[in-house]
Amino acid sequence: MVLLVTGKCYENCWYCPLSEEKRGHDVVYADELKVMKDEDIIEEAKSIDAEGTGITGGDPLISNTTFRYISLLKSEFGDEHHIHLYTSTTELDRIRRAEEEGLDEIRFHPPLDVWSNIDDSEFIPLLKLLNDYDIDVGLEVPVIPGQQRELRRLIETAAPYVDFINLNELEFSSTNWEELTKRGLIQAGDVSSAVKGSQEIGLAMLKHGYPVPLHYCSSSFKDGVQLTNRIKRRAKNVAKPGDIVTEEGMLIRGIILCDDPVKVKDKIQNKFGIPAKLIRYDKEKERVEVCLEVLERIHEELPYDCFGIEEYPTADRLEVERWPL
Ligand code: SF4
Repeated sequence: MVLLVTGKCYENCWYCPLSEEKRGHDVVYADELKVMKDEDIIEEAKSIDAEGTGITGGDPLISNTTFRYISLLKSEFGDEHHIHLYTSTTELDRIRRAEEEGLDEIRFHPPLDVWSNIDDSEFIPLLKLLNDYDIDVGLEVPVIPGQQRELRRLIETAAPYVDFINLNELEFSSTNWEELTKRGLIQAGDVSSAVKGSQEIGLAMLKHGYPVPLHYCSSSFKDGVQLTNRIKRRAKNVAKPGDIVTEEGMLIRGIILCDDPVKVKDKIQNKFGIPAKLIRYDKEKERVEVCLEVLERIHEELPYDCFGIEEYPTADRLEVERWPL
């Protein structure tokens, strides 16, 4: 599960991909679910069979709720629920507090302007101190074309003090494209949000053979494999009886649009003798939802607009296709 605990951050990276609705705001999201209470986090983790949580932001160590959430997840799912956290903070007391609550791993994101002089920054003394702590310590940074020299220096200097370094392919987002474009960066392809050149540089860094475990994560892996796996697990847990779950984990069902869905649902259920578990009133979307196979059989007798739909099993239930019956 990805748990965003705050959109606030002390840094102001020009490549920050955080969306408008999150950046700078005190909001909490568990995957796509906006969290209103602690139970929402537990429910989301259960619905995707989460084996671990990545706590992100903004900077999670700005917010005190981070400590409560670590403890909440550990007490609900046990010690084996792995928790890692991304931060740019060098405040040892806050890191120690997170560790005391059960944090397993910390991934530092040093700001770009300290990459080439990281040995003069607060990071190296901090990394040395953390060697004595019972958590895994790594760095995670984007691969920015034009900043190879700085990145190499960062890796070489930090390598003796960290357990791993993760390199991420740089991506365009709706909030950073202007800054990226201003610096001459362009898309890797028409249908890709990745930045051209980022992947080649990342892979070349892996081949170089630095004395530290180095990982490269492409945007297609993040968006494709990681997201698809999570979606499939969530679909299995949130699908309603009668829903078709596709191989990709999408949900297919029938819907009836009408003025009074509560009444219409009861009327149709009685008239056609539909089992209660195959028809329901969907309060959130103000419509009747029916098993698609059932709706295909009866729709011609109904004076309402009937459709088949395909939607994500995520909390935002993004609808990707609708076809009239
Ligand atoms: S540290 Fe991360 S969240 Fe903060 S501004 Fe930089 S990229 Fe954005």
